[in-house]
Parts: sequence; C-alpha cells; structure tokens
Amino acid sequence: MGGVFLIFGIRSKDKLLGSRLGRCEVCGATAAQTLVRRTTKFSLFFVPLFPVRPARSFVVCTNCGRFRGAVREELISA
Ligand SMILES: [Zn+2]
Repeated sequence: MGGVFLIFGIRSKDKLLGSRLGRCEVCGATAAQTLVRRTTKFSLFFVPLFPVRPARSFVVCTNCGRFRGAVREELISA
C-alpha cells in the first residue's frame, strides 16, 4: 500500500517595513523603533498557500527589544 505523504505546516514570515526614531512606550528611551509585519501562511510541501490569519504588525524597540502592537499612525507612515 503506497502512501502519499502530505507535508504541511504553518510558516511565519517577518518582513521589516522600516525603522524610525521614536520614543518607546516600554522603556521610555528614544531609540530606533523597527516596524515589522508578520504574515502566517499555511504551506503544503513547503509552498505557502494562503494566509492563516491576517498579517500582524508590531514595533520592536532596538533599545530594550520589546515588542508592542503598532498603532495605526505608524502603519500609515511606514
Ligand atoms: Zn524600549
């Protein structure tokens, strides 16, 4: 009985949208804030097929390394 193996999984991909100087809400320092968009896709045989959930954007502070959700204004200006 021959088997067909399905290789599937969930793959997340981060894309750097850019960075700019800003004040971090977490540590309070003024440092480069990197805007990242993360897309999560269902993949079959390592080929991404369709998004599992909507892309999420967040900001990473380069001073303390903490993540926080990006606010709308940051997304527009990116
Ligand atoms: Zn910070």
